[in-house]
Amino acid sequence: MKRLCVFCGSSVGANPAYSEAATTLGTLLATRGIGLVYGGGNVGLMGVIADAALAAGGEVIGVIPRALADREIAHTGCTELRVVDSMHTRKAMMADLSDAFLAMPGGVGTFEEFFEAITWTQLGLHRKPCGLLNVAGFYSPLAVFIDQAVSEGFIKPVHRAAIVVDDDPARLLETLSTIDLPDVPKWIKRDET
Ligand code: AMP
Repeated sequence: MKRLCVFCGSSVGANPAYSEAATTLGTLLATRGIGLVYGGGNVGLMGVIADAALAAGGEVIGVIPRALADREIAHTGCTELRVVDSMHTRKAMMADLSDAFLAMPGGVGTFEEFFEAITWTQLGLHRKPCGLLNVAGFYSPLAVFIDQAVSEGFIKPVHRAAIVVDDDPARLLETLSTIDLPDVPKWIKRDET
């Protein structure tokens, strides 16, 4: 894995464990020579992970829409800051630059970005694994909900397997680098229902 796209909150959240995990992950990426691709902000967990990766000598590419950059909330210390015209361009560019996706704790912005990345993997638009860093159990209820969608017949088990949930950043990185994604696109034939 050359570059990891990390989606994370524009807030730091209520538990200091979230910032600690962002620092750990940012440092880990830098020491392993894995570039960080992220939303380009200097606020919340986004700012924490970027600062940690940069402090440890890592490559950090921020991709930020002009409207956010103009409000002076872009991180000016990134190795590279790409200013784009829209949120849609941003997500497509973040996906193109990365080999895998990981979501740290965050809010609806983080969820939306992560679910789009999973959807593109399911549809075969790219073949990149997606991980949830389950800091302090933050994503446990979501993992249960996703499993319910599997048992209720809305998500195929093969697609569920492409979503890795782990509370340990190093192990999650290892799994994302080595996972063998099944080549099963989502398209369902009419006679398969
Ligand atoms: P949330 O998880 O709801 O906090 O949203 C995180 C997402 O909000 C980011 O990935 C961005 O799309 C967007 N966002 C909000 N504030 C900023 C900011 N200051 N810089 C960059 N992106 C931001």
